Amino acid sequence: MPLIRSWVDSANRAGCPFSLNNLPYGVFSVGGDAPRCGAAIGDRIVDLAAAEAQGLLDAGGTFAQGQLNGFMALGRARWDAVRARLTELLAEDGDRALPLVPMADATLHLPIRVTEYTDFYASRNHAFNVGLLFRGPENALPPQWTHMPIGYNGRASSVVVSGTPIRRPMGQLKGDSGPVWAPCARLDLELELGAVVGQPSTMGCRVSVEEAEGMIFGYVLLNDWSARDVQAWEYQPLGPFQSKALGTTIGPWIVTQAALEPFRSKGAERANPLLPYLQESRPGLYDLEIGWSLNGQVMARTNYNVMYYSSAQQLAHHTSSGCPMRVGDLLGSGTISGPAPDQTGALLEMTQGGKTPVTVNGQARTFLEDGDEVALFATAQGDGYRIGFGPCTGTVLPAQP
Ligand code: MN
Repeated sequence: MPLIRSWVDSANRAGCPFSLNNLPYGVFSVGGDAPRCGAAIGDRIVDLAAAEAQGLLDAGGTFAQGQLNGFMALGRARWDAVRARLTELLAEDGDRALPLVPMADATLHLPIRVTEYTDFYASRNHAFNVGLLFRGPENALPPQWTHMPIGYNGRASSVVVSGTPIRRPMGQLKGDSGPVWAPCARLDLELELGAVVGQPSTMGCRVSVEEAEGMIFGYVLLNDWSARDVQAWEYQPLGPFQSKALGTTIGPWIVTQAALEPFRSKGAERANPLLPYLQESRPGLYDLEIGWSLNGQVMARTNYNVMYYSSAQQLAHHTSSGCPMRVGDLLGSGTISGPAPDQTGALLEMTQGGKTPVTVNGQARTFLEDGDEVALFATAQGDGYRIGFGPCTGTVLPAQP
């Protein structure tokens, strides 16, 4: 599909992340007014609450709310109808009465009320590289890894929107003569994509991969900040806990599954056939360039299609015990890493656990320092248009001993 031209000129410019083909959803406010739902188009935001109040579209009044959960709860038929209506209103021969706000004037908020947060571990390169550092070559890839998506239950309460500073945590660390209480000295990022679950499932009911795909509203950039020294001491046998609870940053714009449809892509080669409940009838990943920068220097670029499990497979597996899912559930993909060091989504891998420093703006670096700014980015390149995800940034604040 080529670029859909809009009467909002900035949306037609080459390289614009918010072409009419994209139309991501977010929550914004201007000045001190109440946060409400919007859609990005070029350098503007469609004020969806005002548009609904003017009778231009129908989302059951949910766009006046300060998060997208109400709209997501309406279900896929309404998601599709509103997207089609917005595309019509914004097309070249559309309705110029549609209320727009300059993006530069807006404050962007957390787009959803995050009801639950689970983080997975679905890049084979990342799982192998990290396993190598934590457990050695024999046990690098856990034996179940190629058979099921593994993850841990994270904290919804610690998810923040892009731009929120992240405080370096204090923690219990392994010392030479017993544990010590100290600032984390191995603070890291994790480059991930988060799937936003827009429809619930019932406790006791398993969801198939196909049904799971129908429940996913869209995707956000996600940085799973990680305290590696805390993690190394605490994580066996129940997995990460305080090392992953210091903050998780998500981007302000949810790119819908509909916008990503033209970029559907097969993932990594399978090492073995999956059990039937995890098999996909069509490719569930996307051809999406994704990467991160540190203090403005691009550190790594890779592709989301290096992943071994799709979000739909992760969601299906998540319900395999009968675990219910909620509107606003957030599923982190797991760190996205390609095989080469300049394709890795974490400093732990890029620096081989801190042994091989990297150069950032002329300085040798291993882990994150106070004042560092990490920014994630992702782009799908279409035929004459782009699908961008907006910013996903965070600056490290010093620890409070
Ligand atoms: Mn993670």
